[in-house]
Amino acid sequence: VARPRSPRGRAREVLARLGAARPGTAAELATLDFSNPFELLVATVLSAQTTDVGVNKVTPVLFARWPTPEDLASADPDELEAVLRPTGFYRAKARSVRGLAEALVERFGGEVPTSMAALTTLPGVGRKTANVVRSIGFGLPGLPVDTHVGRVARRLRLTTEEDPVKAEAELNALVPPADRGRFSLLLILHGRTTCTARRPRCADCNVNDICPSAFRADLGARSGRNGS
Ligand code: SF4
Repeated sequence: VARPRSPRGRAREVLARLGAARPGTAAELATLDFSNPFELLVATVLSAQTTDVGVNKVTPVLFARWPTPEDLASADPDELEAVLRPTGFYRAKARSVRGLAEALVERFGGEVPTSMAALTTLPGVGRKTANVVRSIGFGLPGLPVDTHVGRVARRLRLTTEEDPVKAEAELNALVPPADRGRFSLLLILHGRTTCTARRPRCADCNVNDICPSAFRADLGARSGRNGS
């Protein structure tokens, strides 16, 4: 196989190989548990500074007690904090998801909007969360850039941007709309298991023959940054 020289060629090959190793749609690859876009939105907001595994432990209780935005908007704050306690930062998170539910009820009739512009008007929702909801919740184009996506994409020289919004724009130009959510998840999973921040396992990586950073001694020391 010819070694792709362009970022676009590398992106295509990375998507093909990582996708072959982990088949499935964006929704199937997602590691947060949810059964509708509202649950996904709340779970994603809760996942800041908390692992998805940790979030998945509290959301069944959360959504059994307050299944709709209307329910959550009028949740008793103390009771809500008690449910969210295991996630850490539970006071801030309780305020945050209640405010989010209130905004959904007041401005969107209790429905999660689908457009980037509308989603990012919700309190606590930035482009990353909006892209998660769009791609995983609605099957729409969306390429969430978190710390794993940024690091792995820079190592693969798909972008040189450190800024997530700029990195997202560059990656969007390389990945077809229908593949963006899946592409993001594949990089996240690759970043968690193989292309880790401190000690990337290049010998076990199925794109090491096309990765410009493969086996570079300074990778972990640079915590995933990919400068010159
Ligand atoms: S070869 Fe190494 S640096 Fe490149 S993607 Fe694989 S694990 Fe990451």
